[in-house]
Amino acid sequence: MALVRDRGQLKLGLRLPERRPRFPPTATTTTTTTTTTEYETVQVLGHGNGGTVYKVVHKKTLDVFALKVVHADSDPMMRRQIFREMEILRRADSPFVVKCHEIFEKPDGDIAILMEYMDAGTLDSFSKNGGVFTEQTLANVARQILNGLNYLHAHKIIHRDIKPANLLVNKNMEVKIADFGVSKIMCRTLDACNSYVGTCAYMSPERFDPDSYGANYNGYSGDIWSLGLTILELYMGHFPLLASGQKPDWATLMCAICFGEPPSLPEGVSDEFRSFIECCLDKDSGKRWTASQLLSHPFCSSSSSRQ
Ligand code: ATP
Ligand code: MG
Repeated sequence: MALVRDRGQLKLGLRLPERRPRFPPTATTTTTTTTTTEYETVQVLGHGNGGTVYKVVHKKTLDVFALKVVHADSDPMMRRQIFREMEILRRADSPFVVKCHEIFEKPDGDIAILMEYMDAGTLDSFSKNGGVFTEQTLANVARQILNGLNYLHAHKIIHRDIKPANLLVNKNMEVKIADFGVSKIMCRTLDACNSYVGTCAYMSPERFDPDSYGANYNGYSGDIWSLGLTILELYMGHFPLLASGQKPDWATLMCAICFGEPPSLPEGVSDEFRSFIECCLDKDSGKRWTASQLLSHPFCSSSSSRQ
């Protein structure tokens, strides 16, 4: 049976207070029951837990896109994730969030999301393929991610899985937030959001150990912790809570995230950079800066680049 949803049903419980900016009232993305035959597959870009992402080209216009395909027989949790991702992607309209052009929901239950193609892959693959991140490059990267987070947080969306592998980049060094499979749309202002989802290596202390650190839990600051770790990792060239090459396990991560001092930059970096990382990686989530505060931090506001 087709999974086409009536637009009128797509309310998602997004009961935003009047003062807050809203997603566009109608979806910016169309949902269609047509097939993807207008597109020709060029190559496989990657496999996620839930499906496969292809580079495709539109046969008539020759425009290039990324097409994420999730099969109907994938497990129910994966299907829930893809629906969550669809709900957010079809409404998000920011240059710092990967653009979704169309969603295909086939009668057999397969789902395909047509997205803008990011020709340099993820920040993770970019780094592992020899990409070097200077302070200046990272200031530019950090500002773009923060612009994306500022947009999402203003719309009450917590990403919950910010990490280099979920940040796409193109050859112009434009960085966009992707992969909303475990994101959460907050329906109430103080909605708790500490279910165990996302990648635990990048989890904040209050998500990893809510009993000890979760008193002032608000969820948004968890994304800021993950951003701080991401920027630190890109600078250091390895995951900063572990020695280079060390495999993470739950106990080691628990010790490093919850019992240790927050990770910090090595000697030789600017005061602005060091302070920026400290503002992201405060173990007290209440003291962590917000996305909009960090956009005004001297580290982000000094260099000239894409706003
Ligand atoms: P998981 O499901 O575990 O989160 P994932 O994030 O790798 O895995 P996907 O979002 O399905 O899963 O993406 C798989 C890979 O496809 C990515 O790692 C990336 O290399 C590539 N990819 C995804 N979207 C795009 C895009 N819009 N442009 C270019 N490459 C993309
Ligand atoms: Mg992912």
